[in-house]
Amino acid sequence: MERGARVAGLQSRGSARDGRRRALLLLRHGRTGRRRRVRAAPAGELSRPHRHVYDVLIVGGGPAGCAAAASLARRGHDVALITRPAPPAKWLAESIPNSARKLLERVGALDALDAAGLVPNEGNTVWWAGEPRRDERFGEPERGFHADRAALETAFHGVAREAGARLVTDGPVIETAVEPDGWRVATSAARYRGRWVLDASGRAGVLARRGRRTRERGIATLALVGRWTPDRGHAPPDPGCTLIESYRDGWAWSVPTSPRTRCVTAMVDPRRTHLAREQGLDGMWRAELAKAARLGRRLEEGRLEGPVRACPASLYGATSHGRPGLLLVGDAGSFIDPLSSYGVKKALASAWLAAIVTHTGLEDDAMAGPACELYDDREREVYRTYRALSVPFLEQAAAVNDHAFWDVRLAAARKAGADIPGAAPVTGTPAVSEPGDRSLAERRADAFLARPEVRTAWETIRSLPAVRLHPAPGLSSVRRPAVVDDRIALEARLISDRLPDGARYVRNVDLRRLTEIAPDSDQVPDLFEAYNRRGTAVPLPDFLAALSFAVGAGFLELADS
Ligand SMILES: Cc1cc2nc3c(=O)[nH]c(=O)nc-3n(C[C@H](O)[C@H](O)[C@H](O)COP(=O)(O)OP(=O)(O)OC[C@H]3O[C@@H](n4cnc5c(N)ncnc54)[C@H](O)[C@@H]3O)c2cc1C
Repeated sequence: MERGARVAGLQSRGSARDGRRRALLLLRHGRTGRRRRVRAAPAGELSRPHRHVYDVLIVGGGPAGCAAAASLARRGHDVALITRPAPPAKWLAESIPNSARKLLERVGALDALDAAGLVPNEGNTVWWAGEPRRDERFGEPERGFHADRAALETAFHGVAREAGARLVTDGPVIETAVEPDGWRVATSAARYRGRWVLDASGRAGVLARRGRRTRERGIATLALVGRWTPDRGHAPPDPGCTLIESYRDGWAWSVPTSPRTRCVTAMVDPRRTHLAREQGLDGMWRAELAKAARLGRRLEEGRLEGPVRACPASLYGATSHGRPGLLLVGDAGSFIDPLSSYGVKKALASAWLAAIVTHTGLEDDAMAGPACELYDDREREVYRTYRALSVPFLEQAAAVNDHAFWDVRLAAARKAGADIPGAAPVTGTPAVSEPGDRSLAERRADAFLARPEVRTAWETIRSLPAVRLHPAPGLSSVRRPAVVDDRIALEARLISDRLPDGARYVRNVDLRRLTEIAPDSDQVPDLFEAYNRRGTAVPLPDFLAALSFAVGAGFLELADS
């Protein structure tokens, strides 16, 4: 087949309207029809490639792709970021919580976002599950952002470019091929070669969709998105806040995009929400918002700006987030419930780690495998943790609404988030919480601190006039990949029957150092001083917690116990 003709044919099949078309099919028929994919060319088929070989090709210029590109370029790698020609049209908007600031700073994007003129995010106003209005406000000066999708991408593109990545806007990527020495990626205009490729193409999942992702069965979510402006003389209340309201068979959400305009969205399930389909998208949107009494009432004195659009928002996760040479980053790997407002933050965390993993793999072939293993584990955990964190919200909504919309979501979240420590269902108002940079093993170790064995160990240590400690007979360690500074290294972790995942640090106390020196002193204050003399000093309460932990976990034994 003639090369140009094949490329042109593929381009029209994978058009940018594809997602919206599928969303409409889902609304009308409850199914999306055939899924369209970017073509995977057989190895060697992409002829006449670009001669230059980049260290990394990144597909997709959203927050994840740009953050990864900037982080890798700053480490001295030769990076091409290949994305669509222009940011998407001005319609979807996102709230980024203030807790994302640390990550934004870490990927070097905070100053750019602060300077981008986005609406400051002051917090949330929530009407959830029939509870009284709840005002969750972020303190000054640490505001988050409300971002028009187009403005957000433009700001992130600047971050990637300034860091030294080559921004290629002749996408979309329409073909990819794996070669013995790396990857080849094609747009309709050019071909690019790279040693590693990061798929950061979001829901499009240019590489992720090839059997690397699974959708959560039984729940489908569509966002009906409209832009709303109040009539003259009406100032919208809570101008800097995200508004969230649950109703019987859906929930609504509103984000300011300017002092007067809001992006207002109804989240529905095309199979379960009772939709006014005969009224078209605008009518459906109005009917849904009328169900959200408080939020809907605020829209009475205003008008829709432009048409309502349907946007797919169903959840999915990856079966594998990568292997040496290929990583799925941000939404390309998984999509969490927009209810959390953590999508962008999760994408940044994913990009930050993907950059460290890629940097490690490019510098040290032998570490590429363990680094990708860590990445896959961490990304799965993050997805499951966010799912677990949504359980309390869904429980509340399911308890008062008695509708399949909530019941199926609750069951799915419980299943997906099972076995995640520290995210157990809570009673009362759910606290907004989230996974941090810590791995599941680290969080399991944190959770172990609350176990009775640790408390008993502390009581015993406290009660003894002298503590004669020694490492448990047969104490062993395993080497597991961990983030050490800006790369992945194998780190020795102590393991025991009680803690098979192992642990190395508890409250920044190095358990290996502690077990080595423990037999040298029989007084805790002496042991504390000896520990601090041997390396980075820690405060006494953290040291005592770690000491009790080491005894409780069975790493250390007390001769007198
Ligand atoms: C309705 C809805 C509401 C949301 N609300 C929020 C919110 O309030 N707060 C929040 O934090 N998150 C929210 N999210 C989630 C958030 O949008 C994503 O989690 C976040 O944008 C993920 O970033 P990303 O870079 O991984 O992917 P994306 O932002 O999706 O970026 C993917 C990029 O890849 C490009 N691309 C796609 N296909 C190709 C191709 N073939 N070739 C080249 N480039 C391609 C796209 O143009 C885009 O630039 C919401 C999502 C939805 C659907």
